[in-house]
Amino acid sequence: MNIVNVGYKSTNYFAVGSTGTPLLVDCGWPGTMPLLLANLKRVDIPLSAFQYLLVTHFHPDHAGLAQELKQAGLTLLVCEGQEPFIPQLKQWMKPEMHFHDITLRDNRALPFAESRALLKAIGIDGQVIATPGHSDDSVSLILDSGEAFVGDLASPGAAPDEHAAAVAASWEAIRTAGGRTIYHAHAPLRHI
Ligand SMILES: [Zn+2]
Repeated sequence: MNIVNVGYKSTNYFAVGSTGTPLLVDCGWPGTMPLLLANLKRVDIPLSAFQYLLVTHFHPDHAGLAQELKQAGLTLLVCEGQEPFIPQLKQWMKPEMHFHDITLRDNRALPFAESRALLKAIGIDGQVIATPGHSDDSVSLILDSGEAFVGDLASPGAAPDEHAAAVAASWEAIRTAGGRTIYHAHAPLRHI
């Protein structure tokens, strides 16, 4: 499975899957499209190759460019339970960021039970599961080959007390789903 880090500004964004139809996992702050395009050019993946954008959670450093990417032709996958969090994204945005608010009716709803079939259709063997803890809308992509893209899920033991139980349960879910090689959004690769 091809995994390419196209991240910038201390956040990792990943192109996952075949070079023909990779999946984009997370996208950056508003106004950073030129950085994303430059990184894609560096790794020789045209933006037009992507059909879907998966957002691990709707925070500005993970979903800020979502609407602009939709306008560029990508379909935003909205996982089960994530939609109510989309309108909250704009609370972090200042006017000078020129954030494009994410419209709700033109996304692809993704129940977790359907994630395996959707991923299979673009050549990825894996699934998306709920992994709350950092936020209630956090999800992780787990490949059958063991790679897990967990967004901002805190390392076990590093979560604040009030989130410790949710974080521990999410790590258990990741392990159960076969996640072994952990791709964090803001931390180095880690094996569990
Ligand atoms: Zn983050």
